[in-house]
Amino acid sequence: MTLPMILPGATLGVLGGGQLGRMFTIAALTMGYRVIVLDPDKNSPAGMIASEHICADYRDAAALERMSRECAAVTTEFENVHADSLRILARHTIVRPGGDAVAIVQDRAQEKSFLRDNGFATAPFALVNTAADLEAALKATGFPALLKISRFGYDGKGQMKVNSLDEAKTAYAAMGNEICVVEGFLPLVAELSVVLARDHAGKTACYPAAENQHRNGILDISMVPARVSQKIADQARDMAVGIAGKLNYCGVMAVEFFLLEGDRIVVNEIAPRPHNSGHYTLDACLTDQFEQQVRALCGLPLGEPRLFSPVVMVNLLGDVWGDSQPAWGALLKHPNIKLHLYGKQAARPGRKMGHFNCVAQTLEAGLATALAARAAIGVEGAPSDAREPAA
Ligand code: AMP
Repeated sequence: MTLPMILPGATLGVLGGGQLGRMFTIAALTMGYRVIVLDPDKNSPAGMIASEHICADYRDAAALERMSRECAAVTTEFENVHADSLRILARHTIVRPGGDAVAIVQDRAQEKSFLRDNGFATAPFALVNTAADLEAALKATGFPALLKISRFGYDGKGQMKVNSLDEAKTAYAAMGNEICVVEGFLPLVAELSVVLARDHAGKTACYPAAENQHRNGILDISMVPARVSQKIADQARDMAVGIAGKLNYCGVMAVEFFLLEGDRIVVNEIAPRPHNSGHYTLDACLTDQFEQQVRALCGLPLGEPRLFSPVVMVNLLGDVWGDSQPAWGALLKHPNIKLHLYGKQAARPGRKMGHFNCVAQTLEAGLATALAARAAIGVEGAPSDAREPAA
């Protein structure tokens, strides 16, 4: 069945007004849509630039009713959106991605079980519903292990490394005896991610894998193309496309992978939305991930995801601000650096305030310029390893 396309001039809705919602809003406004943002924060980055901002809770019945009446289609920018809100909206308007896919992905226990049941390799894991499950779970994973809370964890929050059953019991209690997943702690060669868009008819457009470095559990740098063998790049793409298919997913999503010794990958997690590691697409691809989100939402043909050039994306956290604005001139003097700031008012340590993309002839040149530029605004340090390009 061919569904009608939602064309420019129509009104789109987004649940969540953070930076991802803001970049979706920019893409949609650029293409001539109106955008309504629902976010309880009156200063939300997306709300301040949207056509309309409904300042209300995500479960507010009147707000959802208004969204479903006024929007031709609604999407979301964060995985912890209440899947029920998506289902309520779906009674009267188009919602992409759907509540069922989001419900699986936002719950680590369900997500891991979904991956295992569909044959996608993960780290060894076991579910912990009560403290009595810990011993058997840790037997299955071995030590060291990571105890991860099933709901509402992000950026490495809600997880603890444990080396014994006693440590695991203490960690489990510290996490409030909530449902958890225990995972074997794997020696990682690298971390990768693949962002893709999938339309309502199942057609996908996949971006090249990014190689990601984290600091304190938060994405620090993404390098594209990832320095991995063609075999791994292809495998990551095929797994990401396979996962999207099994979820019957419509929209933009990301799959994070661990690269292990022996040139193999396992899935870490799935994000049902555009992803921080896909921000490089804003300046280095023909169609960026937010335009793809608009296209998938509106039933338009997906844009070409082609990468024009190697690119390095560097996150800018609130730590860089101190008492004043960073010395932006030191970044902006580089003609191949593109700065993106999210309009957040308070710069707190660890808060994602913006990012920049450094587009260059080679990844090595991009990395050198990016690191020099961020050192000039006060962030020292190279990526945590100095991996050589794969043969
Ligand atoms: P997550 O919130 O699950 O994405 O985990 C945050 C970060 O912790 C990942 O990006 C990895 O650096 C690290 N990590 C998570 N799970 C594992 C694991 N099973 N083994 C080794 N490192 C992990």
